[in-house]
Amino acid sequence: MSKQARSSKDGPIRGLKLTGSPRERGLTHGEEFADEIERNLEIYLDVFEHKGSDEETVYEQAEQFVPLIEDENEAYAEEMRGVAEGSGLSIEDVTILNARYEVMYSAFKQAADEINEGLPDACTAFGVRNSLSDDGHTYVGQNWDWMPGLETFVMDVELEDGADHVVMTEAGIVGGKIGVNEAGLAMTLNGLVTEHDGEEPFRKPYHVRFREVLASERMDAAIESLIARDRACSANVIVGHESGEMIDLELSPETANYLYPDDGLLVHTNHVEDSSSMNSEFERLIPDTLCRAPRLRRLLTEDADKIGEGDIKEALRDHFDHPNSICRHPNEDDPELDRLETGGSFVMDLTEKRLLGTNGPPCEHEYVEFQVGSSSSQPQGAVDGRHP
Ligand SMILES: [Zn+2]
Repeated sequence: MSKQARSSKDGPIRGLKLTGSPRERGLTHGEEFADEIERNLEIYLDVFEHKGSDEETVYEQAEQFVPLIEDENEAYAEEMRGVAEGSGLSIEDVTILNARYEVMYSAFKQAADEINEGLPDACTAFGVRNSLSDDGHTYVGQNWDWMPGLETFVMDVELEDGADHVVMTEAGIVGGKIGVNEAGLAMTLNGLVTEHDGEEPFRKPYHVRFREVLASERMDAAIESLIARDRACSANVIVGHESGEMIDLELSPETANYLYPDDGLLVHTNHVEDSSSMNSEFERLIPDTLCRAPRLRRLLTEDADKIGEGDIKEALRDHFDHPNSICRHPNEDDPELDRLETGGSFVMDLTEKRLLGTNGPPCEHEYVEFQVGSSSSQPQGAVDGRHP
């Protein structure tokens, strides 16, 4: 395929099979997505600079993260080195992407102790227990709301010492963030902001933890990667299992809240539901988070006793409060919110270990199906899934 045909937001979300040693997986990733990785790096460097963290500071931080990641997860560091070699970028360039949460929150903290100086990933996530779905399958997924133009793809990862999985990632980032594995475990990710974010940036990066979550064979092991060690900043993660068990983890740097499904359904957006242990701040910047979670619960439950895959997709295309809706679009009236849109919509069937993903807002883009363990290196399956 030509470079033009493969670029940016044209066409469906692409897939890439990653096999072999960590270095070999990284090389494949780096070689295949070299242009996209460089574009993502430029976008993030611009954002950090916009937030008051110049390039020199960012690269100094990256130099400190390299040995930290090596200590935390040597295979992850080796895969990053493969990405660097394959793409022709430096290990620091690739590290900036892989620690981009930690670097970003730290930049915000340095810029000003004001919440409106920062803008992490928004998002609307859900989990549907098997007892509530019309086909008896367990579903987990989300709309991922982030900066327009970032290059994403779905990795089909074959691990020598962990669970194989399919997962959406930003080009250049070794650990994905929205995925499902062969053990029937899945995870989603939403941005949260709480008061101590970025004060201690040099802690195990989230994306390293996400790789460990999806490499897990058991649910408790997946949870352990997220909570055992303190974090640099806040995030919300749903971990679900095909059995219907699921948990929502509201993570701040040093505390965590644990939420469970209500009537078989979990929904979460970008504010802390249990504010007894942490001060939630993101809703001051994007108050729509307070509307999207109850809206999604209502859309999924109001008209029927059981939820189908088609109902989920329809709910994820919802435009209540447009443009700051579940299906989010750039808000031209607000320079900060203009930088947020639904970059992809993801529905994972944990029972069948498959992921449906779009390459942009689901009102404008079709879902493409990816199956764990598929041998193809390109997107496969019927557009818009098998259960329309
Ligand atoms: Zn839309």
